[in-house]
Amino acid sequence: MTTSTDPVTIFESLESEVRSYSRSWPVTFDTAVGSHMTDIDGRTYLDFFAGAGALNYGHNNPKLKGALIEYLQRDGVVHGLDMQTAAKAEFLRTFSEIILKPRNLNYKVQFPGPTGTNSVESALKLARKVTGKEAMINFTNAFHGMTLGSLSVTGNSMKRGGAGIPLVHATPMPYDNYFDGKVPDFLWFERVLEDAGSSLNEPAAVIVETVQGEGGINPARIEWLQGLAELCKRHEILLIVDDVQMGCGRTGPFFSFEAAGIQPDIVCISKSISGYGLPMALTLIKPELDVWGPGEHNGTFRGNNPAFVTATETLRSYWTDDTLERSTVAKGLRIEEKLNELAGSLPGGLEVKGRGLARGLGFAEPELAGKTAGAAFDRGLLLETAGPDSEVAKLMPALTITDDELEEGLGIFADAVRSVVR
Ligand code: PMP
Repeated sequence: MTTSTDPVTIFESLESEVRSYSRSWPVTFDTAVGSHMTDIDGRTYLDFFAGAGALNYGHNNPKLKGALIEYLQRDGVVHGLDMQTAAKAEFLRTFSEIILKPRNLNYKVQFPGPTGTNSVESALKLARKVTGKEAMINFTNAFHGMTLGSLSVTGNSMKRGGAGIPLVHATPMPYDNYFDGKVPDFLWFERVLEDAGSSLNEPAAVIVETVQGEGGINPARIEWLQGLAELCKRHEILLIVDDVQMGCGRTGPFFSFEAAGIQPDIVCISKSISGYGLPMALTLIKPELDVWGPGEHNGTFRGNNPAFVTATETLRSYWTDDTLERSTVAKGLRIEEKLNELAGSLPGGLEVKGRGLARGLGFAEPELAGKTAGAAFDRGLLLETAGPDSEVAKLMPALTITDDELEEGLGIFADAVRSVVR
């Protein structure tokens, strides 16, 4: 095999066929600031992708970068497993003071490993350990990660197929609006729970996203989430909210479930918790459920201290008041308005979806979503698709995007849609 210094060739010749974003955006990115990424030829792209939700505060946010550089300059501990470090103490103190206490939330914090799927795996394991039951309830079109436990509660058949073994111990229930509002909420779920002849294995926990991201930007109604929490309580089933993508302010409030006024038993957090795109995850556990033995769930990269430093700075910079939350809601409504306008001006079959700054435009002809993303890229805008048939164009800008950048991106998006819808 020949290798080349040509960057495109090097990826094609050396990087696994599993690569995907590099196929959608076949340029080589080099620098990134705020809501822009620049490639090696100097072309700049407006970012409506935001690291799949890991860059809620934009690229190389200067407030966070300052704290990170200072920490590295003074030789702060970088790698620390789960040792006590000053950076971790500061993060825990700040998270408790700024996030948990004002929301009246009482959780122990587990550092499960640096990725979203690490948090989901720990949540599933803990729910099984606490209850002594193995069955899980998940929802149609859910996405929880690529390791085997997380895949077992994930809907997408292509991703599930990659497991290569049977994915077991999970029973799917219809997510909100699965039957277009024609069936009362939880009709099937309640029935199989109560019917001794249903064959449902008694579930340890329910795992749910408040807005399904990868599943197609499907928001569950607030009353549906409240109904689910109430059902779980009545049937003594633990409630796990996977807030990996919709947490950290993506829908407005810090936790996406705040709007429903519910208190999940376990919460999975990752993606934007470090604020800087550095790997970090949390599993939040109601104290009475924290039955782990020391080291029973471990991992080498649970102590990414630079991530703790930027996470602390993020909370101090953006979460001491509700300015960011209000701006996220307002920007989200602006996107919704623009998408409704666009859908209204084009032939039918376009569905406007989402909450906060997680927005989507669904296409009746699925391939038009991918074509829209391609046309947007040609015009200098980065966005991806979501949904079981990749039928939704997903608009997820950084929460810190300026109003001008948002308008510019929405203009490019509208052009891209018009270029593919006839
Ligand atoms: N849960 C949800 C809701 C997600 O959106 C994702 C990632 N898209 C994950 C879990 C998995 O996170 P990671 O890719 O960091 O393992």
